[in-house]
Amino acid sequence: MNNPTLRVMISDAEIDKRIHELGEKITEDYKDGDLVLVGILKGAFIFVADLARAINRPVRLDFMGISSYGKGKTTSGEVKVTKDLDASIEGANVIIVEDIVDTGVTLSYLIGQLHNRKPRSIRIAALLDKPDRRLRPVQVSYTGFTIPDEFVVGYGLDYAEDYRGLKDICILSDGAT
Ligand code: 5GP
Repeated sequence: MNNPTLRVMISDAEIDKRIHELGEKITEDYKDGDLVLVGILKGAFIFVADLARAINRPVRLDFMGISSYGKGKTTSGEVKVTKDLDASIEGANVIIVEDIVDTGVTLSYLIGQLHNRKPRSIRIAALLDKPDRRLRPVQVSYTGFTIPDEFVVGYGLDYAEDYRGLKDICILSDGAT
């Protein structure tokens, strides 16, 4: 990228407010049983940490590493598991916690994988949803924000491993274009 520019799309205060709303909803929805948050690495690492603290009941945490984008901005269409869950999810209520749903390829693959492990239920929480680019249908139960088709970074999301530490979600564009 020749001349990258960042423009705030969603501020840290808006993110914080919305995550507390999602946490309250999840707390209401899961009154009993084991609840496991499965954070998808690396992009969801900040979201899952904040969401876990916004849920007012015990949760277990586990992580899966998935890579589908390589170093660029466009999906390769291939999903590779780089880290599997540490523990069994059999009989547990599972919420897959994802940074952003774009084509839906990653999540539809993951749901298939996790269903085979016989959880009691599986739902999806996604901080961001870009419905314009959907190739596979996925049902997101807890959506933070629905956004237009822009490439965003910050709050865990990267471009070639940069920008994950930004507090706001920002649109990254090439200043030359
Ligand atoms: P999908 O399989 O739904 O096309 O892709 C989901 C993954 O693509 C996300 O977990 C994320 O890693 C990456 N992704 C999709 N859109 C964006 C974006 O706007 N910014 C960044 N940084 N990653 C994205």
